[in-house]
Amino acid sequence: MRRLLPLLPLLCAATYDTGDSTPYPHTAFSEKELAKSVSKAAKFAGIKQIILRNEQGDTEVDKLQELDKAALSALMRVQGLEDPEGKEYDLLVPVGQDRIAVTVWWAPPAAVVEVGPALQPASSTREDITGVVLEENGTSWDPRALGIVADALATLTDVERERIEGLRIIRSPGPPKGARSLVKASGRLKAVYIQEESGESSLVLPNYALEESKGTFCGPASAPKEVAERVLLHELAHAVHQGKWRARLAEIQALEAAFNEPEGKTTEAVARHIELVEEHEAEEQAPLVAAWVKRFDSAPTAYGDLSPIEAFAEAFALYHMDPAALRRVMPDAHAWFESDYKP
Ligand SMILES: [Zn+2]
Repeated sequence: MRRLLPLLPLLCAATYDTGDSTPYPHTAFSEKELAKSVSKAAKFAGIKQIILRNEQGDTEVDKLQELDKAALSALMRVQGLEDPEGKEYDLLVPVGQDRIAVTVWWAPPAAVVEVGPALQPASSTREDITGVVLEENGTSWDPRALGIVADALATLTDVERERIEGLRIIRSPGPPKGARSLVKASGRLKAVYIQEESGESSLVLPNYALEESKGTFCGPASAPKEVAERVLLHELAHAVHQGKWRARLAEIQALEAAFNEPEGKTTEAVARHIELVEEHEAEEQAPLVAAWVKRFDSAPTAYGDLSPIEAFAEAFALYHMDPAALRRVMPDAHAWFESDYKP
């Protein structure tokens, strides 16, 4: 292998693919057979250079046989996908008992491959999770579900944690009643954030949001995480952008409750109530959503194309789990989170 000096400029991926979970058809092949197939496919696709990326930097691969089975399988998989050009794929490659994390950028005339460790299932305990309220509705929290929550929360900043303080996260077998038609309509909706008029809010985490990662992982290949963590972070993004509204609505509710109490309707309380209601009526959207809409009309993933709010949630989840991936697919959004973003 040849060390590349200076390092190749960071390849820009046009999209970040998150949907793939198709199993590998070729794990029975030997390395030699795989190398042969990859070589043929690369030539056909106009790939002239295969680069192996790791913490030490980039090296150009002279002979495909130098690559291990996980890297070869991932390259094989990507070239078989429809229209892979310009895309970044985070793939879980079964090798023996393990599922190895491999990221591939397929960007003719080069393909970059980064091989990480095997994905380890998340695990945590209730005691390790603070600031949110863990509830159960028909099914119980297990160490893996708790681990996904703990990992997702650990990526948030202090201000973001403050915005979601007291949020109820509910484990449930299926989606909440009111959201069933929504789930059906979107087809891809996995977990649900519910914001009620009163300011009450909750995040429902059904079984299928916690499904095990099959063909794909999240985060950098060097530290792979389960896809469920990205699903949860997407919903936490909604809780964060509604955070200021939630706090305001809760205060309005508390004041209104106090008005019914003897001596609760003080001049200050009434003035504060008017101030809050006026503030609220003046805003069409939560301030964070308004700031995002003003600045962006695109999304880092296909799901984000649904609406600006979904685009924000997708960018938020990516920024927290894999900032380098967001920088590649939507550099201006990455820069915004680094500087102008005020949760
Ligand atoms: Zn969403």
